[in-house]
Formats: sequence, C-alpha cells, structure tokens
Amino acid sequence: MARVSREDFSVAAATNESAYRRITIPMLRVEAGPGPAVALIAGVHGDEWEGQAAVLDLWHQLPEILQRGTVFLLPAVNAEASLAGTRLSPSDGGNLNRAFLGEPARGYTESIAAALEARLLPRVQAMVDVHSGGASLRYLPSSVITRYGDDAYDARLPALARAFGLPHCVFFRGGESGSMPAAASRHGVLRLSAEIGGGRETSRGLAERCREGLLGCLAELGLMPDHPLPRNPEIRLYDLDAPAATLRTREPGVFVPGVELGQSVAARQDIGRLIEPARPDTPMRALLSPQAGTVVCLRAIARSGDGDCLLQVAPALPLDSLASKY
Ligand SMILES: [Zn+2]
Repeated sequence: MARVSREDFSVAAATNESAYRRITIPMLRVEAGPGPAVALIAGVHGDEWEGQAAVLDLWHQLPEILQRGTVFLLPAVNAEASLAGTRLSPSDGGNLNRAFLGEPARGYTESIAAALEARLLPRVQAMVDVHSGGASLRYLPSSVITRYGDDAYDARLPALARAFGLPHCVFFRGGESGSMPAAASRHGVLRLSAEIGGGRETSRGLAERCREGLLGCLAELGLMPDHPLPRNPEIRLYDLDAPAATLRTREPGVFVPGVELGQSVAARQDIGRLIEPARPDTPMRALLSPQAGTVVCLRAIARSGDGDCLLQVAPALPLDSLASKY
C-alpha cells in the first residue's frame, strides 16, 4: 500500500459578497517508493468533466495499486469553476490555461497558477492534464500533444500517446507564455493532454476510457510496471494548428451541423448551415469544410455568434509524422 498525504492548498477568491473568501484546491500525494514523480490534473476548465471524474476515481483507487514512484492527483484544479460548472473562474473571469504569468499573481486564477508553479511543477518529471470540449464544444476522444514555442521534440511523446490508448491524437502549437504547456516547458516537465467529450455532459464510458488512459501513462512512465499497456497499433494524428483546420462563423445564426464527429469530409464539402428562424427572410447560409479531413471537433451549442468556432477538421496523419511538426 502506498503512502498517502493531502497537500491541499487554498487561494484567495474575493467577491463583492465575500471579502476574505478562500477556495481550497484538493491535491493528493501518493508515494510508492523510488521512481518518477507524475502529476495527473483535471479541471483546468471547470466544465470539462471526463478528466475530473477519472482523476477522482484514481484518488480512491491509486493508493492500493500504485507500484513505484509518486503521483500527485488534482481532480479539480480550478475548484471554484468546477463547483460552478463553468469554463472560467467565476470570481475573476480568469482562464487558468492562460494564467501562468509569474509573480506577482493578481487574483484567484493567477494565484492557482502561481501555486502550481511553486508547489507542483518543480517536483514532477511528467504530467497528464486532461481537457474536454466543455460546454461549447464536443471532441472526438483524443490524446493531445501541444508543442510550446521552440521546444525540442521529445521522443517519449508518441509512446505516451499510445499508452493513453485512444486511436486519435490532436496536435496543437501554443505560443502563449501564460498557458499550462508553457509552464510545463519552463519546468522541463513532459506533458501529455487529452480532449475527451464535451457538451456540458459526460458518461461513465468516457470517464473510464480516460482513467484507463491515465493508468496507461503511469505504466509507460514506469510507475505501474504490471499494468497492461493498450495495444493500439494505429493512432491517427490531426494537426489542428493549421488555420484551415478551424471553421468560424462571422455572423450570428443557429448552427445546424450536417456531419458527425469522426466523419471524413472533402474540402469545401457542405458540413451544415446557419439559419435564423426568427427572421425567415434571412437567406440560409451553407457552411463548407475549410479543408479535407476528419471532423475532430464540433460546436455543441446551436445558437452561435461572430467568431465562434463551429468545427475543426484535419487530415489523418500517421503518428510517426509527429517529429516533423517540431
Ligand atoms: Zn480545457
């Protein structure tokens, strides 16, 4: 049985109704002797549930099954947003994935980021940080590799994506210094992420796939040598960084998608339409796929406005082509 200790921390989150309010962020340290230290994080965005459910399961299960090393579990790292069911922090409107801006931290969201940079990232060699589509998007369940800036290609990433066990892997390039990938990069922490589900709902099936993915990563990183690794010979990589991968609307309307997640589409194929039922004289606007590929992400809210992301699509590449993205 591993040694378990609570390392919760609390962060000031003042509101107009509560001057000295503080929010507790739960963190569990599970230690099973020598070996790497790994952080499993969910709830950076409070309305993304699959990772939060999976890390909570491991909170209860991992002390019995961890074989080596140390794992830090944070099932709802933005606890205030998780409790409210919102993407951003209710008290200051902050986006935790843009709040790693260094000291001095201004407000609740930046204080969580500062605490993670001080208390967690210097103590781990790897992390898995699970996201999903949240309220407004749905994703084809995928592991995610984010290249930050000019980071060198890390040859361990494909093995970690394979260990996560999902047949799809999304590639992003992030340039914002306040993001979680930027913070991981500054601390030399190997980072895998995921986008699983979305649409303000979740399911036991998706949460279990996420939990299995996290256990697979712990096995790949050497903390659970007896845990079987998934056999997924073929993982398809989707580069969502290209401007042609994202279709945004520039006008308001009701989005009626005509395609499903995972569907293959041709370039300029009809993927749905934008309608305005309350203004029947407004012409229906056909929406065309910005490029050929697989539909990886779809907007989950029909009513849409200028600038909203409606769809993401990218050609399926072999995972081996990841190195060429660096
Ligand atoms: Zn997210």
